[in-house]
Amino acid sequence: MKRLRLYLKGAVQGVGFRPFVYRLALKLGLKGFVLNEGGRVLVEVEGKEEDLRAFLKALKEEKPSAARIDALEVEELPPFGYGSFKILTSREGSPSVALPPDAAVCPDCLRELYDPKNRRYRYPFITCTVCGPRYTLALALPFDRENTTMKHFRMCPDCKREYEDPADRRFHAQTISCPRCGPKLYLYGPEGLKAEGEEALRLAVKALKENRVVAVKGVGGFHLVCNALSDEAVGLLRKRKRRPHKPFAVMFKDEKQLLNYCRASKPELTLLKSPAAPIVLLKSKGKLSKLVAPGLDTVGAFLPYTPLHHLLLSELPFPVVATSANLSGEPIVKDDEEALKKLFAFADLILLHDRPIARRCDDSVVKLVGGKPLVLRRSRGFVPEPLELPFSFKGELLAVGGQQKNAVAFVKDGKVFLSHHVGDLETEAAVRHLEETVYDLKKLFGFRPSAVVCDLHPRYESTRFARRLADKLGLKVIRLQHHFAHAVSCMADNRLSGELLALTWDGTGLGTDGTIWGGEFLKVSYEGFERVGSFRSFRLLGGESAVKEPRKTALALLFELLKREALELEHPLVRSFSEAELKLLYKAYEKGVNAPVCSSAGRLFDAVAAILGVCYEASYEAQAPSMLEALFDPDEKGAYPFSFTGGVLDWGEAVLALLSERDPSRGFTRFLRGLAKGAAEAVKSLGFKRVCLTGGVMQNAPLVSLLREELERAGAEVFVHERVPANDGGLSYGQAVAGAVILSKEVGA
Ligand code: ZN
Ligand code: ZN
Ligand code: FE
Repeated sequence: MKRLRLYLKGAVQGVGFRPFVYRLALKLGLKGFVLNEGGRVLVEVEGKEEDLRAFLKALKEEKPSAARIDALEVEELPPFGYGSFKILTSREGSPSVALPPDAAVCPDCLRELYDPKNRRYRYPFITCTVCGPRYTLALALPFDRENTTMKHFRMCPDCKREYEDPADRRFHAQTISCPRCGPKLYLYGPEGLKAEGEEALRLAVKALKENRVVAVKGVGGFHLVCNALSDEAVGLLRKRKRRPHKPFAVMFKDEKQLLNYCRASKPELTLLKSPAAPIVLLKSKGKLSKLVAPGLDTVGAFLPYTPLHHLLLSELPFPVVATSANLSGEPIVKDDEEALKKLFAFADLILLHDRPIARRCDDSVVKLVGGKPLVLRRSRGFVPEPLELPFSFKGELLAVGGQQKNAVAFVKDGKVFLSHHVGDLETEAAVRHLEETVYDLKKLFGFRPSAVVCDLHPRYESTRFARRLADKLGLKVIRLQHHFAHAVSCMADNRLSGELLALTWDGTGLGTDGTIWGGEFLKVSYEGFERVGSFRSFRLLGGESAVKEPRKTALALLFELLKREALELEHPLVRSFSEAELKLLYKAYEKGVNAPVCSSAGRLFDAVAAILGVCYEASYEAQAPSMLEALFDPDEKGAYPFSFTGGVLDWGEAVLALLSERDPSRGFTRFLRGLAKGAAEAVKSLGFKRVCLTGGVMQNAPLVSLLREELERAGAEVFVHERVPANDGGLSYGQAVAGAVILSKEVGA
């Protein structure tokens, strides 16, 4: 007889782990108990040595699919003489980052959903131990019923029986409910409540068939939903949202319907059908309404991930647009009251339910680049899965990210916890969302940061918030250069160490010399960086507002290259300005009025799009480069000349060559090939063997493929992001890692 005490850490709560341990112990005839203690699971098992050995083996090999064991501590104790094996109630302990992400409804639950004999037939909130919302309904840890937004729903006797039956697949499923005891559907019109339950669903389906817009409550917020095949329906949504071009995501009923409208490879289908169920950018077959993603050949596709989505989509003969419901610049709407107040501006009806959402969580977005998934937005389904630090570190800190695509990160227990997508900090509501997120997660996980890391840019809302927070909580403030944080993010994402070169290409970030950077070659390690090269700089006409005006940025490049002569060019781009405008802009350029010096790669791509006549004005972020990406021609082998001398990658000749190009597809492809060759020259002359590709520009699939090809030919090993976005959504991860290095040096650890 022997007794073992085990402590398990990782994704071990809310994934059916205790029931699994219970069944395993029963099978092997072991006695003892299992319980959640803070963020970890504590097990005591007593029995014969060989059975204990089998228990440990099965623990690792047969654990539930959604579970992950990061650490297992085993301690041998003298036998106690337990009479049975029990699941005991949770004990408080130090809660650590141990809450699973939200998981799409599982195949077993789906089968029951459509089984007329099942008591949960057509029940929109069917879940079990392996599926359903987790992160978005946890109010506190450990993940027990009374700590979730399900606490107000009292289990009926049938649910209770399942919950307590070790043989049932809903044994200790904290989200268990049924039509008798669980949440219900409600349908609202502007004039008030219209219907409940099945009738609510039926009327929502009817409205969608009539090309109306319906707001639907999901897992981490509301979607605006409409017929994705109808110009009338999508046009209506665009008009109401005042969103002329930004692509909408489309939800397909199932794989078969999706393949009718999109091309998807095997890894793409695997991603779509994974428990995370992200939006995946796919090549469109052009059969959806043209208004879904104007000017693009891709579509953000996803599959139903809640039982409600399944019920809704199964009644519709068409795929639907399903886009985050929010006012412009504000975070996604999650509460019923807010939805009823705000969403009738866009939707004819609102389909909601009375299971509250604890925290916002937008859909995640993934794109396959060179056959590998690149996360563009890491949110629902991935968060709060922790990421590791590439070195050991005992302290705690907070990193608040940048201004765009904000996400925050906490470091604790040597792990980095990257938050859900907070978004662009352009409105008061968005800044409030940032603050709420920090306080909410701090409380939920019991974080106690001693420092806060922010960007160098003094006017980023995240930087301002970091200062306020530091004053309030007495934290040390660490300011890090934007592109250094990007580079560290990519290094750590690839678990690299030492010194290497990072091609950090993005829109804009404040440099250490006070100018705007964005096309950088950084010699980087976790300790620090040196700017060993950059794109040729130019003056950004209009400063930050240039983001919306690729046409002006293109003109700025021509001013940089041709000075006054640019005014005389007989090129459509130049002629799209009036004489008066041209004179005014040239003056601003010469004098540097609201025209800061920048080396931005993102703005260079904008300018290329404008010169090629592809995009003069951008109504959403990255519109120009997204449209360019659709033009890439793999059969075009020409390349414009780029040179690298004195640490400057010069695009001058390439841009001049573009001026006489009439074929946008050929022009863009030659530009891209030339750029990749120029970058390879730079890497060779700088003498690096390992190269990280990071920054928002590195989401351009053909660019990344060409760079990989050219750099590998030049003998370099190339690393791209894996789990963390290359864009500013991954910034706080880099800030957290670099911040940990600075802190550990200070305490001499
Ligand atoms: Zn399930
Ligand atoms: Zn029930
Ligand atoms: Fe950036």
